Amino acid sequence: MPEKRYLFTPGPTPVPPEVLAVMAEPVVHHRGPDFKVTYERCLARLQEVFRTEHDVLLFTASGTGAFESAVANLVDPGERHLVVSAGNFGERWADLVGAYGADLVHLRLPWGESPSPDALAAELERSGPVEAVYLVHSETSTGVVADVEPLARVAKEAGAIVVLDAVSSLGAVPLETDAWGIDVVVSGSQKALMAPPGLGMVSVSPAALAARGSSPRYYFDWERTQKAQRKLDAPFTPAVTLVRALDVALGLILEEGLQDAFDRHVRLGRACREGIKAMGLELASPDEDRSAVVTTVRAPEELDVKSFLLDLRDRLGVQLIGGQGEWAGKVFRIGHIGYFDLFDITTALAAVEDGFVHAGIPVDRGVAVSAALNAFEHARA
Ligand code: PLP
Repeated sequence: MPEKRYLFTPGPTPVPPEVLAVMAEPVVHHRGPDFKVTYERCLARLQEVFRTEHDVLLFTASGTGAFESAVANLVDPGERHLVVSAGNFGERWADLVGAYGADLVHLRLPWGESPSPDALAAELERSGPVEAVYLVHSETSTGVVADVEPLARVAKEAGAIVVLDAVSSLGAVPLETDAWGIDVVVSGSQKALMAPPGLGMVSVSPAALAARGSSPRYYFDWERTQKAQRKLDAPFTPAVTLVRALDVALGLILEEGLQDAFDRHVRLGRACREGIKAMGLELASPDEDRSAVVTTVRAPEELDVKSFLLDLRDRLGVQLIGGQGEWAGKVFRIGHIGYFDLFDITTALAAVEDGFVHAGIPVDRGVAVSAALNAFEHARA
């Protein structure tokens, strides 16, 4: 029997059968009438999920491509831009902003910290005016989901354009792009949006579009894509198959309802954390409902994280993921965004228990699974 695979990472994530099925259909031409129907609906659905009335620009690129579009369109070399980081993806903003020659102000917080509006206000006070402030909503490397609304307010009050990485949060946790005054929101297809990797998207407010930095750009030029999208005539050949997949996936999300999807993620997060704690393990991500994207577990000293993860993958077909950057070797992570249900959590936890036993670390088999079932049930009531 072929090995069954379980993908429990915070991206890529499992893709629903309806989404897989549409990708088996023949490729259509991107300037033909049938693709235009899909394209138009997909762009409209993106606006609904982004909670914005502004354009959401769609690029054939991973999430980092959408990141790069933001920096390429906003930065004037030498101009001051502020990045808040507390993990790997905040550092990516800093790297990109630096690579485009901006005068980078970096509020670099310890990994795993949740940025506070006071810290941002103090940094803005020190730095003086900045063109843009770059934030991360869900810092996938640590599991922290930031309370973005007050951070955006502070940045706005300072007159900055607010740019947000919502690659792993969009569709999983509440995000009100327009109501919270976020000018630019960047995301990707392979996380809570339940589609394969390969599409990056970015919502752009009129203020962000008007900023028009002078950095060189072509493929990622916002104005070019906006003009073309408005005529449903993509400027370059889009990944038509992925756009059709994303359209179906967004339809499923909207059919469930955004609020119901957020509630499901809260319950999944609670179940996963309770399971981990029941095993006597320590969480490295916050034990709070907002952090519903990924559960980050501090590895006990006696656990060799790399061998443990390889064992889970190769012996059980279960794919979890280790730590990034300065957390490499110290943590492992269980993702639960998108096409996830309770039994994905119990399967992941059962695999963790089994992997510990296999690694010679004693655990009571079943405690994590049982705690997760109880937490999920309790959360429902
Ligand atoms: N930002 C966050 C929070 C992410 O989780 C990821 C993906 O891992 C990225 C950015 C980068 O996206 P991609 O790998 O699609 O380029």
